[in-house]
Formats: sequence, C-alpha cells, structure tokens
Amino acid sequence: MDQNAALFGGKRGFLTRILLALSADLGVLMSDSAPDWHRKKLAELNEQEWEALCDGCGRCCLQKLQDTDSGMTFFTRVACRLLDLDSCRCSDYDNRLQKVPDCTQVAPLTPQKIAWLPASCAYRKVDNGEPLAAWHPLCSGHQDSVHQAGKSVREWAISECVVDDSQYEDLLIEFDDDDNPVPL
Ligand code: SF4
Ligand code: SF4
Repeated sequence: MDQNAALFGGKRGFLTRILLALSADLGVLMSDSAPDWHRKKLAELNEQEWEALCDGCGRCCLQKLQDTDSGMTFFTRVACRLLDLDSCRCSDYDNRLQKVPDCTQVAPLTPQKIAWLPASCAYRKVDNGEPLAAWHPLCSGHQDSVHQAGKSVREWAISECVVDDSQYEDLLIEFDDDDNPVPL
C-alpha cells in the first residue's frame, strides 16, 4: 500500500491521489484558426495548436482520488497548490513538473488520461470528434469566456494549501449535465 492509499482509505476503499496538468500556460489564442479544430485529429495538431486547444478551465488541476479496487476516478474541488484560482492557470508552468512531481502532462492523450479529464475538456471533445463549445476561447475569440460561462474552477475550487488531506473525501464532486460541480 502506498502512502496516498493509506491516507485516503475509507468509504470507497483505498483511494490514490491523481493530478493531471492543464496543457497551456498563458494560452495561445488563435481564433482565426478555430475551424481547424473541427477538422484535425489530435495527432495532427502542431505544438502551438495543441497548446491553444486548452480552454483554461483548470479542471484537470483538481486533485482526484482513485479507488484502487475499482479503478474509478473521482474529482475533488481541491486544486493543486500551483493553480492560480483567479486565472485558473498554472502559476509556474515552466517548472511545474519539477515542483509538483505528480503533475502529469496531458500529451500524449492516453485512455488512462482520458479517464482523468472532465468530459468538458477540449482534448476529450476533439478526440471524440465533437465540436468545441461556444464558450471555448477558440470559438469566442477571448480567454475570459470560459470563466464567464461558469466552466472554469474560478468560483468553486479550493487550494490544497488550505485543505488537510483528511478532508479530501468530504470534498468529492461530480459534474452534472451542465458541467457544474455537485457534491458526491
Ligand atoms: S481540463 Fe482540458 S481544457 Fe481544461 S484546462 Fe485541463 S487540459 Fe485544458
Ligand atoms: S503543477 Fe501546474 S499544471 Fe500541474 S497540476 Fe499543478 S497547477 Fe496544474
């Protein structure tokens, strides 16, 4: 049993903690190339296009707990300590992998990582051949649209800096059909 499993053992069996990093730093806004996202596959995106595809919601930087018996993953409203809760961006993107060892890059997107991403994630949508939402910055043409539409974690995430490990299970959430967080 690893340390996290011991920490989060409880009503859902042994739970391990997972972090998946957001893909972009300041977000490269490319509204003039937005139509490309509806035609290209993820594997066809160049680095700049890949980065621009991130909507900046910050949901992947929420701590997640995994039931080590079932393998099911549960989101919490607890955000990685490096996530800026206002911009919903990583506060030290260049050094994130050194500062947060369990931060995991989205690329390349694997089936396991897909299970760790919210359904609203732009990478999942493109991977599924779905169109981006109207609030996606590539469609709206401005970065704030993800916040204005209530799709980022800005209004409800809590930094792990102010949460004790023992509280994580009380902060489990799921996302409803409108992608709003509801207590689990
Ligand atoms: S969940 Fe997806 S779209 Fe949202 S910040 Fe993370 S990688 Fe970007
Ligand atoms: S280190 Fe940065 S990119 Fe990685 S999970 Fe934390 S806030 Fe997200």
